[in-house]
Amino acid sequence: ALQPLDGLIASLAVDIPDFPVPGVVFRDLTPVFADGPAFRRMVEGLAGPQTADPRAAAVAHTDEGGPRDPGFDVVVGVEARGFLLAAAVALHAGVGVVPVRKAGKLPRERVSADYALEYGTATVEMHTDSLWRGQRVLLVDDVLATGGTLGAAIALIEELGAVVTAVSVVIELAELGGRQQIAPHAVHALWTT
Ligand code: AMP
Repeated sequence: ALQPLDGLIASLAVDIPDFPVPGVVFRDLTPVFADGPAFRRMVEGLAGPQTADPRAAAVAHTDEGGPRDPGFDVVVGVEARGFLLAAAVALHAGVGVVPVRKAGKLPRERVSADYALEYGTATVEMHTDSLWRGQRVLLVDDVLATGGTLGAAIALIEELGAVVTAVSVVIELAELGGRQQIAPHAVHALWTT
């Protein structure tokens, strides 16, 4: 039998106490990304049940065999580890990928949102024309901690008139209350700890 995905992630992730600042236990997911089978299962899990059929991606961009609707039109990923996941999820689901970037990286007209991190503060931005009104978005990141980052990303997506239909993360740090922070949007976490 296949090992449960949460246990697989837990076995490969590495906890780093007091990084990047004292008191924070940093969840290092790089070993999960580096493991081929684990990475595939993580991407499939983040994409959601409507893409569970491995043939879905192959037919999603053609008219053959009744293309399947994954439930979203685009995947939005948060810099930087969210990019690694979002691009793979988008390819798997047969849709495109749009970045939420740290301040100062995007060259054209953009929208900005400030937010508080578990450690420090930050600003995220999106190109104004990167989503269209009513576009259905799957929002992806690696870790849900306080929810500040995903909350800011949701604010940007909604400012552009798009609709967040799903939020997927690899790890949810439940005691930090991120899920409550981004309610009423539901969070799909592959591992809640
Ligand atoms: P937050 O805005 O507090 O939900 O923090 C989420 C963002 O910060 C994610 O993009 C994570 O990559 C990163 N992050 C926050 N806390 C941790 C942690 N304990 N371990 C790893 N990454 C974290």
